[in-house]
Amino acid sequence: MEKLELRYEGKAKRVYATDQSEYFWVAYKDDATALNGKKKGQIADKGEVNNQLSALFFEEIEKAGILTHFVKVLSDRDMLVRCLDMIPLEVVVRNIVAGSLAQRLGVEEGFVLSQPVVELYYKDDELGDPLVNESHVAAMGWASDANTKEIQVLGLEINKILRAILVKAGIDLIDFKLEFGVLDGKVYLGDEISPDTCRYWDMETREKLDKDRFRRDLGGVEEAYQEVFRRVKKVLAKA
Ligand code: 5GP
Repeated sequence: MEKLELRYEGKAKRVYATDQSEYFWVAYKDDATALNGKKKGQIADKGEVNNQLSALFFEEIEKAGILTHFVKVLSDRDMLVRCLDMIPLEVVVRNIVAGSLAQRLGVEEGFVLSQPVVELYYKDDELGDPLVNESHVAAMGWASDANTKEIQVLGLEINKILRAILVKAGIDLIDFKLEFGVLDGKVYLGDEISPDTCRYWDMETREKLDKDRFRRDLGGVEEAYQEVFRRVKKVLAKA
């Protein structure tokens, strides 16, 4: 597999064309941004953790029969993925109130929701990824009604899969963000599943083990990323 020209550079990843047109080469970076790009920094070895942790989660999700863009790990920081026609939405699933939901509803972080909440955000950095609902999606033509339903159902199924793994690692899955795309008429999970895109709290100490350590200047950012990776690897090695 040959890495060809850079096709797209995001905040956390570079995406390259390959000699096979149906695949992209994704290179994970250590760059970190928060507060809608206003806060910038680096998290040492984040690229390695996010690549390899995402790969572990994608494999488990595939085992459950859900299609993902993941093909294989190419190196510590690189993975091969299928090219998808991306749906311009972020699907956020929440089990416990934190972050923007705590602010929006005036509820304390840590409030346990009686059932998971699924939210849709329109993916647009300049607008700060606004919260939208199904009627916005339909009226703007961002996704078909069937695909809008499907990505929300998949979000809830993926929530169950991730929670089952993380509970064995002593980690509460507070919330997370997914992105989906379409290939040959079918919906695939894309992007990544990592401490950049999820909130993880230690079940005993309630310590944050995710990007909130960077966003909120809590220190111990690298250690938290490594700790989640170490624990998940151990759980899946035993499975
Ligand atoms: P919140 O809406 O509370 O800021 O985020 C909810 C969850 O989705 C968190 O786990 C957060 O990491 C993730 N999330 C939401 N939007 C983004 C985004 O634009 N980029 C990343 N990396 N994660 C996001």
